Amino acid sequence: MDETGASPTPPGSDEAAFPGYHAGRCGGLAELDAQLIQCRACPRLVDWREHIGARPRAAFRDWEYWARPVPGFGPPDAPLAVVGLAPAAHGGNRTGRMFTGDASGDFLFAALHAVGLASRPTATHRGDGLELYGVRVTSPVHCAPPDNKPTPDERRTCRPWLAAELELLRPHLRAVLVLGAFGWQALLPVLGEAGWPLPRPRPAFGHGVRLTLPATGSRRELQVLGSYHPSQRNTFTGRLTFEMLVELLTRAAGLAGLERPGG
Ligand code: SF4
Repeated sequence: MDETGASPTPPGSDEAAFPGYHAGRCGGLAELDAQLIQCRACPRLVDWREHIGARPRAAFRDWEYWARPVPGFGPPDAPLAVVGLAPAAHGGNRTGRMFTGDASGDFLFAALHAVGLASRPTATHRGDGLELYGVRVTSPVHCAPPDNKPTPDERRTCRPWLAAELELLRPHLRAVLVLGAFGWQALLPVLGEAGWPLPRPRPAFGHGVRLTLPATGSRRELQVLGSYHPSQRNTFTGRLTFEMLVELLTRAAGLAGLERPGG
C-alpha cells in the first residue's frame, strides 16, 4: 500500500523491477518458470533474442525459435545444480531448454548421461523425452546475449530469478557445479542474495576449485565447484576433455549425496 492507501501497481514485464517483484513471490518452480518466460526487463537482450529468432540459421530454417527467456531444466527436488552463464542464441534460444541444441549442450548432456544424471546422452528439443536425475541445469542470465556477454546491469537485473530458483531448490540443494569463469562471477552474488554467507575476498574461479558455504539458519552447507565451460573453444582445444567433465560431475554428484544417480 502507498500513502494514499492504494496497492502499488506491479511492474510490467518490460520493467527492470519485474524480476525482483515477481520472482520472490512464486510458490514453486512451475510458477517461477511461468513468470520468467514473460520477462522483458532487459531491452538489449529482448531485442537480441527476437532478432535471432527472426533470422534462423540455414540448418534451422524450419524451426520456430523460442526467442524468450529460457527456464531452468530438471526436477524441483534436485540436490545438485549445474549453472552456466546464459542460453546460446541458436541453442537454448531456439529450443527453449537450457543447453539444448548446441555443441556445449551436446558435450554436457553426454557427460551427465555418463555419470547417470541424464536418461540419454543427447538433447535436441523440449519434447525429446530427456530426463535429468537429481540435477537441475540453469543459469544466472536467462536470455541469449550478443557475443555470449551479458552486461553487469543485465546480470544484476536477472539475478532475482536465479536467487528465487535456488531458494525453491534450497530444501534439497547440496552442491552446485559452475561452468566457466563468467558463470562463477555471476553466480556468487546470487548465492549471497539467496542467503549463503560468502567468504571475502571471493575465491577466484578455477577448474576443480571447491568452495564450501557454511550452513546458516535454515540453509544447509553448500558445496560449490568450478569447471571449465564446455564451450567449443575449450573442448576443441582439449582444455576441457570429456573425462575431465565426467570426473567433476562425479565429484559434484558425490558431494550432493547422489551416490547412485538415476538408480
Ligand atoms: Fe528478464 Fe533475465 Fe531475460 Fe533480462 S535476461 S529480460 S531479467 S529473463
